[in-house]
Amino acid sequence: MTPEEFRTAGHALIDWIADHRARVPDLPVAAQVRPGEVRAALPAHPPTAPEAFDEVLADLEAVVVPGVTQTQHPGFYGWFPSNAGLASVLGDLASGGLGALGITWQSAPALTELEQVLTDWLRELCGLSPHWRGAIQDTASTGCLVALLAARERAGDGCEHRGGLQALQAPLVVYTSPEAHSSVAKGALLAGFGADNLRQVAVDPATYAMDTQDLRHAMAEDAAAGRVPAAVVATVGTTATTAMDPVRAVVEVAREHGAWVHVDAAMAGSAMLLPEMRHLFDGVDSADSLAWNPHKWMGTVLDTSLLYVRDVDHLVSVMSTTPSYLQAATDEQVVQYKDWGIPLGRRFRALKLWFQLRLDGVESVRHRLRRDLANARWLAAQVEAEPGWRVLAPVTLQTVCIRHEPEGLTGDALDAHTLAWVDAVNATGRAFLGASRLEGRWMVRVSIGAEATERGHVEQLWQLLRETASGSSGSERP
Ligand code: PLP
Repeated sequence: MTPEEFRTAGHALIDWIADHRARVPDLPVAAQVRPGEVRAALPAHPPTAPEAFDEVLADLEAVVVPGVTQTQHPGFYGWFPSNAGLASVLGDLASGGLGALGITWQSAPALTELEQVLTDWLRELCGLSPHWRGAIQDTASTGCLVALLAARERAGDGCEHRGGLQALQAPLVVYTSPEAHSSVAKGALLAGFGADNLRQVAVDPATYAMDTQDLRHAMAEDAAAGRVPAAVVATVGTTATTAMDPVRAVVEVAREHGAWVHVDAAMAGSAMLLPEMRHLFDGVDSADSLAWNPHKWMGTVLDTSLLYVRDVDHLVSVMSTTPSYLQAATDEQVVQYKDWGIPLGRRFRALKLWFQLRLDGVESVRHRLRRDLANARWLAAQVEAEPGWRVLAPVTLQTVCIRHEPEGLTGDALDAHTLAWVDAVNATGRAFLGASRLEGRWMVRVSIGAEATERGHVEQLWQLLRETASGSSGSERP
């Protein structure tokens, strides 16, 4: 494609995106396809000759759009917000258009230095101390894995740095809570700790936050048995209920054993932009690493995940490899982000944040977050006031965990009712919700925070929830 052809097709694509975003509220929220349907609509073999751009656009419309759950829809309350603000989408386009090769500082100095500046800006906007140094990763899952690898190597330092797990005499142990995201267990397994060395510390039954007495006990027990407490992953804003592990107390306990503390604030991290919410992050400044996702609630299009570390030198010592073909005379003067994570080639992700912060401004983001917090409190108040309905966990942020509990319905029958009710809501196409287990029973998570969701939409949702709950009979999930 020549630049001139790109210009024509690009204008058409921008128009298509703008039109698409404008009509999203009129689309069904849930993807409208059965398993295999998208695949079946595509040719089995690749094209051998160029096709017209219009044909590609037509397929984008006919095949792809119905196969996407509309996370930008005002009725999207599933999982966590996955906002893709259009200012950041422009940054993404600029990133692709530049075609920068992000492997070393030398390959794209602007990519590195913009990333330094943007991670510093975000640190400052979140009220975090200047000792943190940040890098943009693809996801919080990667951030957690990187943190656990750094933790592993620090715990292993006494034995033999970079000797790997084979060099260790004693097993290294990782602690988290059963409410932590599945990426924590995955990271611990990938980092080689082994399933037997991942401890699920108890949570407070009222708040679902990590019980630090149990953490203290578990760490002491492991240490007494000759195992090495290596890392604690605390979550600020757990996936099911947005519970807040008490990071200050976690750090205090972890320090007694020299264990690394990683804070997973994947969704909730955006709330640090609000000074009045920072009390929820008490102690985070004294952790060893922190990950949060602007690509969730803040609204920077995927994939924009921030990983901050306190001790960059240690991270670099764990991650760096410097073959001759990547060396340059400037190496001593610059940051090499390839040594702060796993991939060598890195996208120019800072552009997405740069465009968003410059074009939207942080105050508009803050305004939106406050709107969502107020909407969640409003919904929780309605649910609490309605007989036969329950709010099941503290509403710390923008997610409200609820259940409709008709009289006489308990156990498996209540579960079946809950699942049927979620399916009924999603089948309307007007809203999209997720179900999750809490203490072994299904509940419904209403995760407010799509960019387009205003109070009126939440009021409509509350109406829809009541209508569908009274008509739901039963459903099962594996
Ligand atoms: N941690 C928490 C608390 C999450 O809620 C999620 C996803 O929702 C993740 C980690 C994983 O995020 P990512 O998709 O960026 O890996």
